[in-house]
Amino acid sequence: MSSVASASVDAGPRPIEPIVLQIGEKKFYTTRQTIAESSVLSSLVNLRDPDPEKPFFVDADPALFEHILRYLRTGIFPLFHDVERGHDMPLYHALQHQAEFYQIERLANWILARAYLDAVSTKTSPRSVTLHGEQQLAHLDEMVRAAGRTFKILKIDESKARVFQCPNRNWRHDGLRSVCFNSRCLPTHRGSVPLTVEMQVFKIDLVILEVRIHQELVMPISEQPALPPPYQNTQ
Ligand SMILES: [Zn+2]
Repeated sequence: MSSVASASVDAGPRPIEPIVLQIGEKKFYTTRQTIAESSVLSSLVNLRDPDPEKPFFVDADPALFEHILRYLRTGIFPLFHDVERGHDMPLYHALQHQAEFYQIERLANWILARAYLDAVSTKTSPRSVTLHGEQQLAHLDEMVRAAGRTFKILKIDESKARVFQCPNRNWRHDGLRSVCFNSRCLPTHRGSVPLTVEMQVFKIDLVILEVRIHQELVMPISEQPALPPPYQNTQ
């Protein structure tokens, strides 16, 4: 019932040829050009004319094939890294197997050489944070993770002190008179409300973890020669 729209291109570069692959229990829509780097897939789709009703079948893991196809589409090497847990070695291992299975040499060699280890580095920067009251401590994540960064706690020192308290009982303002003032909690004239109370003070030493990805180590090799910068040699 479905009709294949065959764009009639008269000349020029080879038209894009859509291909449907069935990898295990899942269908993938791609093109002959995209899968060219895999000699196994190229040979498979050369066996007969493509037919959307009859996908080319490979009995393999579709979840892993998503990574394979993403690589074939972009040429970008995969990184499976989490700031807290580091690299996902089992997944690299599984993908290396699949890259060998599909005969994608560049990808297989990249994983085999563990080149991903160089592509990611974690920078740690020490930091001290002072929090006022149990509420702030309970929201430590929110108080520290402001820039979406991950941290590890090294040490917490606890003491009691008289500390500024927000008259509107916004615990986020406790110990931070200027934040409170800027939020217009503080009355312009002094009320009778006592502004300092005794509360727990937590001095926390932690390290902020920042992951850096070295893009140049995962990007495809450019076949274009490097162009000179545009404003070079003006005089
Ligand atoms: Zn306030």
